[in-house]
Amino acid sequence: MYHHVKQLMYNVRVGEPDVRFGRALMEQFGGANGELAAAMQYTIQGWSCDDAERRDLLLDIGTEEISHLEIVGALIRMHLQPMKKAMEEAEQDPLVAVTGGGGLNLFNSMGNPWTADYLKIAGTLEVDLRNNIAAEARAKITYERLMHLTDDQGTKDALQFLMTREITHMKAFSAALDTLGVAPFSIGKLPPTPGLVDEYYNDSTGDGTGDSAPQWLEKNGLHVVKSPFSFQGGGSGLDVDGERSGDSGRSGPSVPTPAVAKEPTHGSTSTATGSTAGSASHKTKKTA
Ligand code: MN
Ligand code: MN
Repeated sequence: MYHHVKQLMYNVRVGEPDVRFGRALMEQFGGANGELAAAMQYTIQGWSCDDAERRDLLLDIGTEEISHLEIVGALIRMHLQPMKKAMEEAEQDPLVAVTGGGGLNLFNSMGNPWTADYLKIAGTLEVDLRNNIAAEARAKITYERLMHLTDDQGTKDALQFLMTREITHMKAFSAALDTLGVAPFSIGKLPPTPGLVDEYYNDSTGDGTGDSAPQWLEKNGLHVVKSPFSFQGGGSGLDVDGERSGDSGRSGPSVPTPAVAKEPTHGSTSTATGSTAGSASHKTKKTA
């Protein structure tokens, strides 16, 4: 059950109301990375979580996010105040001024209504905790950007508090994930295909500026192979007629490791991944 305490988690002071800033701040009220989205994402994950400790964590943080929503709402309400008195201010956002009377509503900064589409709920704990770590990172960077849009010290202080709490949550979700005892790339129950899982495709090539895969890819056991789906010719790219032009023209840079795919021929070619869809369709187009 829920209970409301009639005080804010952080006391908000706004020195100089700024309607335009209030409107930007609505991004954290009814926007994709906003507080309602965070509150609903974690709370609903918590309600469906079978792991008692993580369920409690999800509900703790989900509930704190509602308190953040209340703080953001208080800030917006103060920044939008002038809209209730002056036409010039009301014109900053007719949707809020006319429809909402200069008050709060669940819209983002562009006036789009909040939607459950914002929520990332996968129903598998290790996936959802990653969703949440990413959500906290997005919330943090959004607050940081908003802080650059205001000179009002009271507002900056409140946003600093909110921004800081998102990092706290990020730490908590990370700890929950680390202690699940799930290996870093073990998602769900079915194992990935051995061999294929370690192939990195050098799939963006050809501007002549050099093209080496970074060493750090090897950290997770990856090695670079030429993609079996990559364009095999030396042509100049897309071509409406299906005729390749400039086959003798610019050639792409070499790929640093041995190729897996063979040069496609007419008919079918069997590769490690069992598909030559890309090159086959090119041949079809060419003869059509
Ligand atoms: Mn928050
Ligand atoms: Mn948070």
